[in-house]
Amino acid sequence: MAAMNFAKLHKEFKAILKKIKDYDRIAVYRHTQPDFDAFGSQMGLATWLKANFPSKDVIYVGETNDKWCPAIFPKPMDVADDWFARGPYLAITVDVANVARISGPGFDQSDYKVKIDHHPNVEPYGDLNVVYPNIVACAELVALFELAAPRRYKMTAEMARYLYCGMVGDSGRFLYPDTDDATLRIAASLIGKGVDIYGLYDKMYARSMSDMEAEKFVLNNTKFSPKGTAYYVLTDADLKRLGLTSVEGKLFVNLFRNVSGITATVSVTQDIANNCFRVSLRSNQKIVSKVAAKYRGGGHDFASGATINSLDELPWLIKDLDETPLVSEAK
Ligand code: AMP
Repeated sequence: MAAMNFAKLHKEFKAILKKIKDYDRIAVYRHTQPDFDAFGSQMGLATWLKANFPSKDVIYVGETNDKWCPAIFPKPMDVADDWFARGPYLAITVDVANVARISGPGFDQSDYKVKIDHHPNVEPYGDLNVVYPNIVACAELVALFELAAPRRYKMTAEMARYLYCGMVGDSGRFLYPDTDDATLRIAASLIGKGVDIYGLYDKMYARSMSDMEAEKFVLNNTKFSPKGTAYYVLTDADLKRLGLTSVEGKLFVNLFRNVSGITATVSVTQDIANNCFRVSLRSNQKIVSKVAAKYRGGGHDFASGATINSLDELPWLIKDLDETPLVSEAK
């Protein structure tokens, strides 16, 4: 947790807790196309709220993921349509950079909005924004909030498991940049609450033969630019043949990430429903978020998402990545 202002963080945590106490009804939000960190930080917070404030009406909302629900996370809650009209409520978003990516109903109508996030704060949409872009996973920030809360608030193995899952997910098993000593200390504290980490890994990283077929396809069809950008395209026909959804097309984006000579990796997946191609960008050596921003996206320095309208745009995107300087050379 590089260069943290702990006095500021402490004040922000107190402010979050005050708002939680102020409201009897609380809705916790995750982002669209949820990943381990989105689910993990949301469920880690929602279960903590439910256990520590049993008289409050706490809901969690957002789209599901058939593979991970209910293997790791519960299925979406059955929230009655009129819940949001019944009275004032607090909205807390976790891991959601911008309003357009909030999944589930009722955010706009909420009475007070808390944003807890680890993406660059380009859209500080909360009434209270607790945003630390140098923290590797939003779940790490939520875990810190819960671990730092007064002792009367408890954290169970279930909450710790959700948060640990989010941390492992977004740090790539403690591999990616921004993983640091604090990450590991917080992860250790979560394990200490009784997380069955091996049982969790089995569920997080379970692979089928068809997953292996898809990986084989990507390995065989990845292309390489002159400056070391590795990229693959999955058309709708490819996705159907390989049994993948358009959201799952990016699952192989890290395959070439650590290969010598590769400076950035890109997955391009057709999304027929939205008439576009989803792009995921990763690198250990180049800041890819600026390129993502140029193509209707954004994200972290070394892991971003974008959208292109057709494959005609792809050569330009690859060229932009090729022309992005290595971090070691930029100055
Ligand atoms: P993805 O490649 O979709 O896994 O996204 C990588 C990271 O970039 C994630 O942390 C996303 O939340 C973030 N991201 C993806 N698309 C966008 C976007 N349009 N705006 C801001 N952040 C994004």
